[in-house]
Amino acid sequence: MAQKTYVRKQYWNKMEMDWYERAYLFEVLRGLWITGKVFLKNLGTYMLGRKGAITTYYPEEKRIDYAPNNRGKHVLTQRPDGSPQCVACNMCATVCPAKVIEIDAGFDPDDPAHPKYPERFEIDYSRCIFCGLCVEACPEDAIRMAPEVPHLTSMDRGAMWIKKEELLTWNPQRDVAKPYPPKGQVAAAAPKGH
Ligand code: SF4
Ligand code: SF4
Repeated sequence: MAQKTYVRKQYWNKMEMDWYERAYLFEVLRGLWITGKVFLKNLGTYMLGRKGAITTYYPEEKRIDYAPNNRGKHVLTQRPDGSPQCVACNMCATVCPAKVIEIDAGFDPDDPAHPKYPERFEIDYSRCIFCGLCVEACPEDAIRMAPEVPHLTSMDRGAMWIKKEELLTWNPQRDVAKPYPPKGQVAAAAPKGH
């Protein structure tokens, strides 16, 4: 069977425009024709009760088939006792280009291994751009992004500040490679005066 020869379309990589391209009007009309054709086709299928384009009407409609690597809602990982793995170093808040992470650090004298912890950890989802830099910057694997994006939208901007408690518990995750000893055990092992 004869092999079909592929011929690249002429207008790709064309260095000079033809007269009808320079006239613009024909190309403008051609563009409007293509856009209008797709619009009318989608409108027709929509009016017949079917979905025209592959569009998700977010937030009313949520997809369940996010790609596994989709950067969705953040998760604060937990230690075995349920406390946040975060050590309030502020690196995620510093690197965040949208400046949407706010952390108030607290001090826990009963935990000599990790005396610093986030008393308040909040993310403003009305401005987050889901770039994932906070996840990259974290030295503790304390913040991750799950593929799903549940309950992020609101008509109230204040309600889009998601707090530590929700980030810790909406999709509990743990770094099994970090077997944290219970607090008391660390305190007992610590040298006197420390
Ligand atoms: S995903 Fe990007 S914008 Fe959102 S909190 Fe993280 S660093 Fe900031
Ligand atoms: S989440 Fe990570 S980078 Fe952000 S403050 Fe906590 S430990 Fe630091």
